[in-house]
Amino acid sequence: MNDLLNIADEIANCKECKKNKSGLPVPGEGNPNAKTMFLGEAPGPLESKTGRPFIGRSGKFLTKMLDKIGIKREDVFITSPVKFYPGRRAPTLEEIKHGMTHTKKQIDVIKPKFIVLLGNVALHALIDENINISKVHGKIIEKDGIRFFPTFHPSAAMRFTKVRIRMEEDFRKIKRFIYLSL
Ligand code: URA
Repeated sequence: MNDLLNIADEIANCKECKKNKSGLPVPGEGNPNAKTMFLGEAPGPLESKTGRPFIGRSGKFLTKMLDKIGIKREDVFITSPVKFYPGRRAPTLEEIKHGMTHTKKQIDVIKPKFIVLLGNVALHALIDENINISKVHGKIIEKDGIRFFPTFHPSAAMRFTKVRIRMEEDFRKIKRFIYLSL
């Protein structure tokens, strides 16, 4: 836990993280011993006002999806590769790469068995820049002793019914994996 607080401090004081961004740092939250981690993209305006991840519109959607499969937010650890609000623009590759230096430390401390990658940003940051989420969603990718599970970002599922249906199917798989293997 202390290690996670140290990393949160490091993020709060990181000039590189803050460059061209605004608001409070959003280091992530949840169970420090979580077996499962969820990784998004970057905080939005509401997250940057409160310092808490996924509490805006896509956060509410994610919380509902977790509810449906019987997972409480407090039982998992939720964060994003980018730790400050980039404004109304997509984070750059450099920002994602830099944010991942902090995120990798969080992964090393928490040691999750299972990391759910929500959307292309998390997939590209952790697995491969050249694959698309629509090709690999719902399939486990093993890397460095961790099982990664790519699925869609909630904001895409909120916009497109087809994506929402596929994301719901993926979440049912997450439930099976968690109960069967953790
Ligand atoms: N979207 C993300 O990817 N992360 C957040 O923390 C909030 C919205």
